This record gives sequence, C-alpha cells and structure tokens, in this order.
Amino acid sequence: MLNFDLVIFDADGTLWDYDAGERKALEAALAAFGVPYDESVLQRYRSINSELWRLLEQNVVNSDFVRVERFRKLLSELGIDMHPFDVQRVAADYLERLSAQAVPMKGAEELLRLLSGRVRMAILTNGISAVQRSRFALSGFGRYINDLIISEEVGVAKPDPAVFVHCLNRLGCTRPERALMVGDSIASDIRGGAAAGIVTCWFNPHGAPNLSDITPDYEIRRLSQLPELLGC
Ligand SMILES: [Mg+2]
Repeated sequence: MLNFDLVIFDADGTLWDYDAGERKALEAALAAFGVPYDESVLQRYRSINSELWRLLEQNVVNSDFVRVERFRKLLSELGIDMHPFDVQRVAADYLERLSAQAVPMKGAEELLRLLSGRVRMAILTNGISAVQRSRFALSGFGRYINDLIISEEVGVAKPDPAVFVHCLNRLGCTRPERALMVGDSIASDIRGGAAAGIVTCWFNPHGAPNLSDITPDYEIRRLSQLPELLGC
C-alpha cells in the first residue's frame, strides 16, 4: 500500500510551466494590438497580475474582474490610452493565446505516467476555467488524472480550505491525512491544504526561502522525488 490514497496537484508552476506560456501569450497579444513589448513589460504585467491574484485569493475580487483589470492597469502604467472595449479585446486575445500554451514542467509527464493506476490523482487550480480546461486537453494529462477541479467553477479559491474539502469529496477521499497536496505556492497550496487537514508537499524547484509562518510537511526540488515520498 502506498503512503497516500490521493495526490492533489496544483497546475501552474507545478505540472505546467506557466511562465513560459505566459511570456509567449503576452508578447503575441500585445503585438497584435500594436503595444510595444520587452522584458520590463512582462515584469510589470507579472507584478500587477500577482497583486490581483492575491486579492482574488482573499475573495476581494473575482476572476472576471482580474482578467480585464490586469490589462487596464498595465496599459495605463505604460501610458497607452485605449478604449475600455479594446482593453477587453486585448484581455480576451491574451486568454485565447494562453489557452493554447500547455508546456509541461520537466518530469511532469513521466511522473503522472508512473503514478497512473497506482494512486488517485486530481488537479486543483485557481486558474481561469476556459484556459485550464483547454490546456488540460492539450497536455494529454487527462489520461492520468482522475479529476480536474477549478476554483472558478466551485466558487471558492485556494487557500480557502472549502475548495480542498470539495476536492476530497469529489474524489471520494474520506481521510484528509491520506491525501497529499503538491504545489509551488506556500500561500495558496500549502496554507489551504494544511488548513483542510491534508498532508502538504511544497514543490520548490528554485530553492526559494520560505518566508511564511507555515511549514510544509515535505519539500521537494524535483518532481522525480515524489514517487519515493509516496512509497512507490
Ligand atoms: Mg502554482
């Protein structure tokens, strides 16, 4: 018997290389609307976006707001005057391009193939539903993963423990201590998982310092370390 009955994966930055897809989609979407792009625009976008996602995680705003507001803010900071209707078009164009990006993290496919049929697996993501469903389909991970749970569809986002409990229920897991949450975000994956009584594993590929007051049960640098932790 394995050490866990269920593995819950975060999507972006854990199974998918979100950064690579985000960069490509942003550059192409801005180019399509004649907005000059360079590395500093990407950095600015990322900081605006992560601030808005923090508000979303605190239930202050919803994802419909985030998807347009991040571009309204970015364009305004860049001093580009665009009609609100066109800002919405840029936002939609970006999402469409992002939906076509499904770059797997190093070792993700091998890991899922290895675990497939041996342990139940779910993906739990705060991402935007249409984007995540599209990338899920493109990645082919549906062959291995039992369920894809998207906070936008549930109505609560990580780190709210309610969405983790929802995930356990959907997967028929009655013992949270037999579930392992694997994710790259202390603030959403580890904090929320722990609050729901789930065992947590911080995927920390860059060896970042943990500046939070939360201590994950486990920490890994590579996805290939996971099978040993699961006992297989
Ligand atoms: Mg993540």
